[in-house]
Amino acid sequence: MDHLIPPLSPTNRWWSEETTAVVTGANKGIGFAVVKRLLELGLTVVLTARNAENGIQAADSLRLTGFRNVHFCCLDISDPASIAAFASWFRHNFGVLDILVNNAAVSFNAVGENLIKEPETIIKTNFYGPKLLTEALLPLFRRSDSVSRILNMSSRLGTLNKLRSPSIRRILESEDLTNEQIDATVTQFLQDVKSGTWEKQGWPENWPDYAISKMVLNAYSRVLARRYDGKKLSVNCLCPGFTRTSMTGGQGTHTADEAAATVAKLVLVPPEKLTSGKFYICLEPKKIIAKL
Ligand code: NDP
Repeated sequence: MDHLIPPLSPTNRWWSEETTAVVTGANKGIGFAVVKRLLELGLTVVLTARNAENGIQAADSLRLTGFRNVHFCCLDISDPASIAAFASWFRHNFGVLDILVNNAAVSFNAVGENLIKEPETIIKTNFYGPKLLTEALLPLFRRSDSVSRILNMSSRLGTLNKLRSPSIRRILESEDLTNEQIDATVTQFLQDVKSGTWEKQGWPENWPDYAISKMVLNAYSRVLARRYDGKKLSVNCLCPGFTRTSMTGGQGTHTADEAAATVAKLVLVPPEKLTSGKFYICLEPKKIIAKL
């Protein structure tokens, strides 16, 4: 099943040192590993983190191992002012963008725990954060024949079959889905949480607020992919699989470096093989399925 994403090889290398990628939430975990992998492959990478000290430390550790093309900028994706400041910094310092990996996210549940703790924070960080950042950076994508790429880090917990409500599912899987319908779905979920009726209304049972944040991120990605169809910008989602990071309390079937290798392969697919509007699920390294 790995054929869905062709292996990286010198013959299909389309990028260079001029190719610039931005990775969010990259001071640790999968984000940090993605920055490292893209640097190893010869790109220029902007490592971003909400905590400046942690971000600078992460970037410095990469510079110390010999990577020259790593840059740092502070970015809190839950804060619109931070997003605007980052977009302005990026425009001033780089001008054009080739790859955006929307990686940063939060969850407040341990593995096996299915409580709803801070739904607004989760939705703001995992859905509106990547959406606002994407919209702010859209004018800066190079959109050359190499095709610019957005990869939204998602989760299989957000697949539509986790919804027990057929009516909500019908809306989200519609070919004509709009951003307004997605926003209305989010509002409905938060209202059902507030009124204590979310279980009865058929929202996902596992990591419910996190699952919804990823489900609407997938939905937004499809709408955006449709908007940019034929316009040299591809938008895909990837579930990296159960990966040993702080989000999972160190549990998982594979390492962040292994997950990052899949991310790198996906964002560096040769232009003629590139897809858009897909949701890839990495069941384990080298075992990938496409859901949409
Ligand atoms: P980690 O918890 O290890 O890392 C998450 C990163 O996001 C951290 O750098 C964190 O920063 C950052 N972050 C959180 N909130 C913000 C914010 N408001 N602004 C900027 N950065 C922020 O998680 P993973 O590496 O495991 O997760 C990476 C991605 O993969 C996420 O999108 C996650 O949902 C997804 N994923 C992970 C799976 C897994 O098994 N690990 C499975 C499925 C999906 P800080 O250090 O400051 O908290």
